[in-house]
Amino acid sequence: MQIRINGGRLVDPGHFDGIADILIEDGRIVKIVEIGAVPDLDPASNTQHPEHRIIDASGKIVTPGLIDMHVHLREPGHEYKETIESGCRSAAWGGFSAVCCMPNTSPVNDSRQVTEYIRAKAKQLNLVRVFPVAAVSKGIEGRVLCDYDELKQAGAVALSDDGNPVMNSQMMRTAMEAARDLKLNVISHCEDISLAADGAMHEGAVAKEMGYTGIPSASESIMVLRDIALSELTHAPVHIAHVSAAESVRAIRDAKARGVKVTAETAPHYFTLTEKAVKDSGTHAKMNPPLRTEADREALREGLADGTIDAIATDHAPHSNKEKDIAFGSAANGIIGLETAVSLSLKLVEDGVLSLTRLVEKMSTYPARILGLESGLRVGQTADVTIIDPDLSYTVNADKFQSLSRNTPFEGWQLKGWPVFTLVGGRIVYEYAKEGSN
Ligand SMILES: [Zn+2]
Repeated sequence: MQIRINGGRLVDPGHFDGIADILIEDGRIVKIVEIGAVPDLDPASNTQHPEHRIIDASGKIVTPGLIDMHVHLREPGHEYKETIESGCRSAAWGGFSAVCCMPNTSPVNDSRQVTEYIRAKAKQLNLVRVFPVAAVSKGIEGRVLCDYDELKQAGAVALSDDGNPVMNSQMMRTAMEAARDLKLNVISHCEDISLAADGAMHEGAVAKEMGYTGIPSASESIMVLRDIALSELTHAPVHIAHVSAAESVRAIRDAKARGVKVTAETAPHYFTLTEKAVKDSGTHAKMNPPLRTEADREALREGLADGTIDAIATDHAPHSNKEKDIAFGSAANGIIGLETAVSLSLKLVEDGVLSLTRLVEKMSTYPARILGLESGLRVGQTADVTIIDPDLSYTVNADKFQSLSRNTPFEGWQLKGWPVFTLVGGRIVYEYAKEGSN
């Protein structure tokens, strides 16, 4: 099986940026030729061969397979919201060749059995790569630490109680030390529960106007500062999930300047929307942490631009109408994000916030580096490749999404720049021309 990707702009941060052809054979990149053609495939394997493909990538962007380091696949336990299969399809359609799934399933992924179940299921589906993130504490309840050795052996790539913070600092310290010794990263959902209390959206003008209880930015930044302090104490790395507040960006920037091993991600909705979206989109703009102010959105964009924020992750959080078509205060937190992430993020390039290379770093290179995964377009590497058409434009229609859920605030948005191919291990797992538009 051979695939040629011809004439695209290859963007492999730190290695290559230019027009080139790629030849893929048996799942690996075997040749990269700048402009011009890969020498003809040998006659025995001419392009008429049913298994051989030439992809004309002229005018397209060819990147290492994108990696979403923060998704919720909902299986086991909440298959009416998403399954590993629908989540993997959603990822492939969104241009992601790999996703890392958070452990707040039912049962929680706090055991070898659940980690192995997720991996076995994903392997059998043979769509995108699925890397489970296992829990820090049993049941993500913050009381008893999990057996990290066992979880790592089972295939967990990181630890997180995402959905819940680890409120007890001593427990977080112990977890970070244990994780450090196993070369695992703790991904921290930063939220001071006592401050966030029963807040429904960002504490600010819109909450006041609408009469909703607010969640102050400090409920996030206090915990970011705590985790930075714990990282300094333990010399363990910590990764801050879904950064939403300017105060958190500042704290991470200062810590990085001191050499603290802190990394961070934010999600497209935080650098695209503000608290005002709640007025238009209601519960489809309800998430935790909440959408904040224009100043926060601006701070996140600055943080992305200056390298304070390492990664863009979607926090893809599928929910059914049962959890969303209800009163704002009682509705579940979170939105789906896999299928709109690329176009929303490309807007950062259009707006001059990031170069294309910097964007690819944040959606592939750095997530891979943080988690010890592979990313790159180099000879000999596994052919996980994303091809994006930067000029393709269409209107978001969630009914056409692969995700089982429809909770997006971007419904009806006209977005430009969509993935047109996703390759995993040299196999085409998504092709726009074949599947049609989202
Ligand atoms: Zn979270």
